[in-house]
Amino acid sequence: MDYVKECIRDVIDFPQKGVVFKDLTTAFKDARALRVIGDRLADLYKGKGVTKVVGIESRGFIGGAILADRLDAGFVPVRKPGKLPADTISESYTKEYGTDTIEVHRDAINEDDVVVLHDDVLATGGTMMAAYRLIKSMNPKKIYINFIVDLTMLGGRANLPADVEVTSLIEY
Ligand code: AMP
Repeated sequence: MDYVKECIRDVIDFPQKGVVFKDLTTAFKDARALRVIGDRLADLYKGKGVTKVVGIESRGFIGGAILADRLDAGFVPVRKPGKLPADTISESYTKEYGTDTIEVHRDAINEDDVVVLHDDVLATGGTMMAAYRLIKSMNPKKIYINFIVDLTMLGGRANLPADVEVTSLIEY
């Protein structure tokens, strides 16, 4: 993963002052890095019977769709309010300033599904925890959580359920 790490760009003070933003677009645009990300994600989950990969808007769509394809699983988008066309369920969560809401189609997951929730970066874990509650309410057989990057110094892992297997490819 050293090569992928070299391809990730730090953007200082984005989207606001004091944040060092891990920009994965520079890894996704590199054919070798993109291939390695797909390979490693697939290595983590092959043989686990995964039927759906859930990607969180919008940066979770890229790795999530690649992982779904590699596992022969389906892909499900979790989106911001008002974007999904059919009947949805939603979950709100508190952020530093105000609240945010995410949605998924009501018929996206069923009780036979084994699900991987995927996002590109784990920061505080707030977004992923909301996605977990959303998907958990649909009673799938099993839920895994995955990130490409874990910003460990922010302690997001502690905000995710202790009994869920959480993986990441790169830690900072
Ligand atoms: P979280 O605080 O874990 O809920 O993160 C919110 C969203 O913003 C997630 O989708 C992360 O991918 C993204 N994010 C938060 N902080 C960063 C960062 N420093 N670099 C890149 N993405 C970030």
